[in-house]
Amino acid sequence: MAHDIVVLGAGYAGLAAARRTARNARRGRLDARVTLVNATADFVERVRLHQVAAGQDVGVHPLADSLNDGVSLVVGRVEGLDTGAGAVTVRVDDTLRHLPYDTLVLALGSSAGPGGVPGADEYTATAAGLDQARALARRVTDERPERVAVVGGGLTGLEVATELAESHPGLRVRLLTRGRVAPGTGPRGGAHVRGALRRLGVALREDTAVAAVDADGPRLEDGTRVPADLVVWNAGFTVPSLAADAGLTVDGDGRAMVDATQRSVSHPDVYVVGDAAHATGVRGQELRMSCAMGLPMGWSAADAITARLAGREPDTAPFGYLFQCVSLGRRDGLVQFVHADDSPRRFVLTGRVAARYKEYVVASSYGGLRGGGGGQAGPNLSLTRGAARRFARRTGRPRRAFAA
Ligand SMILES: Cc1cc2nc3c(=O)[nH]c(=O)nc-3n(C[C@H](O)[C@H](O)[C@H](O)COP(=O)(O)OP(=O)(O)OC[C@H]3O[C@@H](n4cnc5c(N)ncnc54)[C@H](O)[C@@H]3O)c2cc1C
Repeated sequence: MAHDIVVLGAGYAGLAAARRTARNARRGRLDARVTLVNATADFVERVRLHQVAAGQDVGVHPLADSLNDGVSLVVGRVEGLDTGAGAVTVRVDDTLRHLPYDTLVLALGSSAGPGGVPGADEYTATAAGLDQARALARRVTDERPERVAVVGGGLTGLEVATELAESHPGLRVRLLTRGRVAPGTGPRGGAHVRGALRRLGVALREDTAVAAVDADGPRLEDGTRVPADLVVWNAGFTVPSLAADAGLTVDGDGRAMVDATQRSVSHPDVYVVGDAAHATGVRGQELRMSCAMGLPMGWSAADAITARLAGREPDTAPFGYLFQCVSLGRRDGLVQFVHADDSPRRFVLTGRVAARYKEYVVASSYGGLRGGGGGQAGPNLSLTRGAARRFARRTGRPRRAFAA
């Protein structure tokens, strides 16, 4: 009887896992069926949502364009997971369907984290999801705010702040961040980011903790007000509670703990990939939520599932990082090259070259998930293989993948 593999979530990680599992099964002549479940019929390029928030049209990508042979799509909301019975409950239109699985891949991604301070949930907007990014864009055009405060100076907050400032030249944008802006960058990368913010007129306040938000804007821990007509919250993502509710072992943030093959440490027939998973990298550090890690995690889970089905041992070499990319509007960017553990190297790319590089990585990340094959994104693949080979030669230790 065919082995039923059900993949929940068709973001970067889930789509990569579904396509590659089907391709591997076909090539290995394995008797397996892959069912991909997603809340919408379109693929959402989350890494472009700051562009959507700034009012840019980034197109629509029907998932049907990404289905390869052997993957069938169910458009519906996952509402429950019964690991004992090996079945998921999915709401399709108004009907509940129960999908049995032999192997499950959980890839439900993440959404905007809870504000964590009084008023944040009521008075802030976010670009973490497609509908929210569109709503934010509408507020900017309809309400015509003069002052916007962006809270959170990680890579996402930085992309939102710079994109808004560049697309709406009259807008006064402030970026407030608890520690340092773009904390993963080295001195040269950090200096470039500060220069870009100055050029775009974004006022940066580092070491600034927001204590509350109300209709007049954020109030800081020291009691000062930062007047703003619109507050955009970017202080982290949160994951759905499905894994924890179903009894999978999760970390304090609800991310499912997985081994080097992305298999749940508590449920051997469940794999978890992308933002939903707590996986560790080359030096045992937790991999950050990113598309760049979601793709290789999806491929890795697919390879492990099909290897085990074929009676082979899967690859367990750890993931390592290569670079971080951040856009600073459409005409500037930063590519910060990093060590395998994500700590910054000296080498950076900046300006238009970096903006083009970032655009290439973003476009190819989705581009690699289209068409009939089951393979992987263009530049990701060549960098992955090249870097993995060099790392293995230098250290004698195997390594997979990269990050951007
Ligand atoms: C503005 C912005 C910019 C970013 N920039 C970068 C960047 O430059 N580089 C980078 O590496 N990362 C970036 N990220 C982070 C990146 O987008 C995420 O880490 C990545 O999308 C995670 O992939 P995923 O497949 O785990 O989840 P997602 O992409 O979130 O996909 C999850 C999928 O699950 C589906 N789903 C969720 N719940 C249900 C349910 N109950 N039922 C059915 N389907 C469901 C969703 O519809 C979605 O299709 C950015 C994020 C944002 C918001």
